[in-house]
Amino acid sequence: PGVRKRPPLAPMAAAAETTATTLYVNLATPDAAESVAATDVDGVGLLRAEFMITGALGGAHPAAMIAAGRRQEYIDDMTAGVEHIAAAFAPRPVVYRAVDLRSNEFAALEGGDVEPDEDNPMIGYRGCFRYVREPELFSLDLDVLHRVRQRLPNVHLMIPFVRTRWELAECLAQLDRHPLGADRGMHRWIMAEVPSVAYWIPAYARLGIDGVSIGSNDLTQLTLGVDRDSGVCKDLFDTMDPAVLDAIDRIIDRAHGCGLTTSLCGQAVSTDPRLAEHLVRRGITSVSVTADSAARTRRIIAAAERRILLDHARASARTKE
Ligand code: PEP
Ligand code: MG
Repeated sequence: PGVRKRPPLAPMAAAAETTATTLYVNLATPDAAESVAATDVDGVGLLRAEFMITGALGGAHPAAMIAAGRRQEYIDDMTAGVEHIAAAFAPRPVVYRAVDLRSNEFAALEGGDVEPDEDNPMIGYRGCFRYVREPELFSLDLDVLHRVRQRLPNVHLMIPFVRTRWELAECLAQLDRHPLGADRGMHRWIMAEVPSVAYWIPAYARLGIDGVSIGSNDLTQLTLGVDRDSGVCKDLFDTMDPAVLDAIDRIIDRAHGCGLTTSLCGQAVSTDPRLAEHLVRRGITSVSVTADSAARTRRIIAAAERRILLDHARASARTKE
């Protein structure tokens, strides 16, 4: 009597792993934003806006929209999509990558006949170089980010496929001439996708960037000389190849040496746990993976960090013996 039965214990919720390495997700469209944002991720490391053009914006070529007097419509629609994602993740960061459509992909859009016909579009008219030649295209990205950041300052800019110092300088000058340039709270990222980036990082850092995100899909393709989309050559495409790992290591080391934040947002880290561990051992700041592999990657990173701590503890115990 008087003894009250205890209520049954609630099942213990699995404690979320915390890791020193930041875990971002790659996202392409607003539809899954809320559900992905509800999971244990630290933000969006790569927002590929290209899919919003081909999807939500009805597949019209941005230049064709400008020519047809529909520029504002483009800005409004893209702003709505990016805002949706930024709001779902706020205050966590969302890294918006400026549109990196290759000429062959742009050509497939409505009004895409303005595109040059290139034999090698993957190493052709794309990325940062396009913004030098067509500032009006880059100004679409800048207008969208400027509008979004009025309300949601967790969105940042990433410039893809940087090949030379002068094109990056020109691109950043365009940014500085735009009202967004005065917004010093916005981080400026570049993607490291061309092997020459490893050499150029100190020069790029001096131009005033904050972070370098390794696009291992393009970096692997260009380091090994293997078309990433070729079914015939797919056995040759290997991000764990020592030459690719060496390029990745040099990019991380040089970037950290210049005080820059580092990330890797290519596909390989979502599929190969060995790469995640390799990157953690190199001290990368963050990785960005597909939403369906985020929980597994968090566990892999947490386990790798524990092993590294243990290795260090054992090594220092041995030196004291
Ligand atoms: C990459 O190249 O690794 C990357 C993330 O960019 P995309 O796959 O969109 O070319
Ligand atoms: Mg790429």
